[in-house]
Amino acid sequence: MKKIIIFLGAPGAGKGTAAGAVAPKLNARHVSTGAMLRDAVARKTPAGVEAEGYMKAGGLVPDAVLCKMIAELLAETASDTTLFFDGFPRTLAQAEALETLAKDNDAIVKCAVLIDAPQEILLERMGGRRVCPKCGAGYHVKNLPPKKEGICDACGAEDQPATIRHRLEVYETSTAPVIDFYRKADKVVAIDGSQDAAVVADAVFNACK
Ligand code: AMP
Repeated sequence: MKKIIIFLGAPGAGKGTAAGAVAPKLNARHVSTGAMLRDAVARKTPAGVEAEGYMKAGGLVPDAVLCKMIAELLAETASDTTLFFDGFPRTLAQAEALETLAKDNDAIVKCAVLIDAPQEILLERMGGRRVCPKCGAGYHVKNLPPKKEGICDACGAEDQPATIRHRLEVYETSTAPVIDFYRKADKVVAIDGSQDAAVVADAVFNACK
């Protein structure tokens, strides 16, 4: 049977960092739907062409696109694999669809790791973080600035700060109900994301092992 562990948390909470750090220790496959979509955009696949506009605006890509991607991924995943889902499900409809997809593909959602951090920390981290909406290159205004402010080193696209605010709003309205969905199923393990990244990763490791 395939095992799914879901990573939930606002943008900036550190769920991608924690999933990336813990996955190799548990021999799990880290699945970031954001990264998959950026790759699809770069390769101009039909899903990428459909997703590009939503991503640029900081909105959510339609559920049908995501569900198809996840259905294909689950179908091609070998039994006994553990999957870390980072960025999926992001809506209640996706969470409900995943239940059916899991049943159809001999998979089970084991738990949902919620990495939680206060709003001021999210804003500080997000305020500094920049992901090029065109090619996905990552920057930070303090720690890793691009050579020329507001311009992506890799592809030259311009930064759009309003997107960051919009992403936090989208999280509040669309993704918070997903947390309730897994709470009702008694699957949520909450971890304080304001701690040091290594401490968060240890807590995630203990929750997932
Ligand atoms: P991320 O790297 O996880 O922050 O995702 C980057 C962007 O990809 C998001 O802002 C959305 O536009 C899109 N995206 C990623 N995962 C999903 C999802 N599960 N549902 C809808 N859109 C998604």
